[in-house]
Amino acid sequence: MHRIAAGEVIERPASVVKELVENSLDAGASRIGVELIAGGKGMIRVSDDGSGMSRADALLSAHRHATSKMRELADIEAIHTFGFRGEALPSVGGVSRMTIETQERSAVTGTRLSVEGGRAGLAEDTCRAPGTTITVEDLFFNTPARRRFLRADRSEFRYAAQIFSELALSSPDVGFSLSHNGNEQSNLQRGLSFTDRIEQVFGRDVVDRSVRVEMEESGIRLEGLIGTPEVARNSRVHQSLFVNRRPVSSRSLNHAIYSGYGGILPRGLYPFFVVFLWLDPGEVDVNVHPTKREVRFSREQLVHGVLSGAIKRHLLGFRSRAISTGEGGETASAGFQAPLGLMERAGTYSSREAVSQMCLPLTMSSAAADIEASNVDVEETIALWQVHRRYIFAPTKGGVLIVDQHVAHERIIYNDVMVRLVAGGTESQQLLFPLVLGFGPAEMAILREVEPLLVELGFGVREFGRDSIVVDAIPVSTRNWNADQVLRAVIDDCHEAMSRSSGSGDLLKDRLAASYACHTAVRAGDALTVAEMQTIIDRLFATDDPFVCPHGRPIVIKLSMEEIDQRFGRS
Ligand code: ADP
Ligand code: MG
Repeated sequence: MHRIAAGEVIERPASVVKELVENSLDAGASRIGVELIAGGKGMIRVSDDGSGMSRADALLSAHRHATSKMRELADIEAIHTFGFRGEALPSVGGVSRMTIETQERSAVTGTRLSVEGGRAGLAEDTCRAPGTTITVEDLFFNTPARRRFLRADRSEFRYAAQIFSELALSSPDVGFSLSHNGNEQSNLQRGLSFTDRIEQVFGRDVVDRSVRVEMEESGIRLEGLIGTPEVARNSRVHQSLFVNRRPVSSRSLNHAIYSGYGGILPRGLYPFFVVFLWLDPGEVDVNVHPTKREVRFSREQLVHGVLSGAIKRHLLGFRSRAISTGEGGETASAGFQAPLGLMERAGTYSSREAVSQMCLPLTMSSAAADIEASNVDVEETIALWQVHRRYIFAPTKGGVLIVDQHVAHERIIYNDVMVRLVAGGTESQQLLFPLVLGFGPAEMAILREVEPLLVELGFGVREFGRDSIVVDAIPVSTRNWNADQVLRAVIDDCHEAMSRSSGSGDLLKDRLAASYACHTAVRAGDALTVAEMQTIIDRLFATDDPFVCPHGRPIVIKLSMEEIDQRFGRS
């Protein structure tokens, strides 16, 4: 096996958090505390109540090849424990000012040892509760190039929070806490089941709309939560796979899960899932690249089949529930855009119509002038026709327009939102019943970042405890039954955008506007009244470029009379 020095994988505070917490878990801790200052760039401190180290071990741990696991190298394929590199502490100590404070359970005194840029000082006596605290300050102080590569505090905190959540998910028997700049962000009790831990990390909302999976077959044990399509998101950030407790990535497992969903996922959305797989460590090959988390299985086909079969079976209940809900007319509260075509069958058309009218404030007045300005000449007495609940056909003097209803509405909302974000002028409506939405620490960090923009957009949001927010107002144009979905989707999009780029303020605004527009616009498949179609056409032609969406997709196709005549051989 190619051994990778941990120094190669310490690229940001999150990697330090990972190494230190893994050590605490290896030391049998029952509580682990993680404290960060300035996203971890100022300080990272991980405290545990594990076995502690003797003075000799502490001194050794700061030096290369100190791992207590060297003797277990023969078992290297077994991934019962975390990390096999044995160089984490020396690597971290080499690029920071690190202090180790540790005391063994039976010892009377403990040891305090400082390492600065790789040079260890003298070990001193200290007295503390059994366990270990490692404090890492000024990460990369002696490697300015790597320090410069770090992002803003909030972004670094987000990365760290993500790793924290993953480690917390993998060890529900251990209590975890996380704080940032002195504020507690997360406090997870110990001694729970994997599923309870998932709930602590992701919040009740998600758990209530997920299906619990538990089964064992052919030596493969499976446990976890599978999100119903209601909690499908527009990014993959809420998907976690663990094999024998270790976070992994696997195309084959992902594929198995997706095929378990069959056709019930709305297009372009990704399911939420946290899945733990247990199988004989001898059947798992992690021998690919220790930092890439990719795994393979000796019985790949079997694992695939068991997983996809389990998911299919567990979602069966959901499917029948969803369909019977359809008859009961409760679908609107389910809040997702009818991937099963329930809306149409459910007979909720009239109430839905009322709500979507609300989201398309009728502004017919200025239409004529605008349309003239853009040289389109929609006929005065218009017969608008919706085709396949996807396109609006509008006859004009010179021919006919075909408008993509979703893209058109998206463009209108996008322009609207950009105006509001740039010039202000928010209009919001108070919610009669404020929503409380639960979020994980990483999402809370994003929320804090985008909160000012959300407020400008017309959302009334404020933090409510550590892991939830209250939404008491929404922009006038939001379809309110969907506010929860919309907000979550927008936050996911911002999350994804921010993990990809350094996220300048303008970029974030643009992303937020685009995301909000996409998730609140009418969709293909939505039936529209004539008044709604009229509004879309009017407002579309009031925008500066009604023909092309910001991403270059056409919104309107014009068929001129000449063209039509020509095709009928009339020219
Ligand atoms: P590895 O975890 O691969 O053994 P590390 O550099 O991460 O290598 O740690 C070196 C050694 O220091 C560990 O093997 C362990 O003996 C000791 N150690 C590190 N952190 C702790 C801790 N929190 N509690 C007890 N021992 C620890
Ligand atoms: Mg380690």
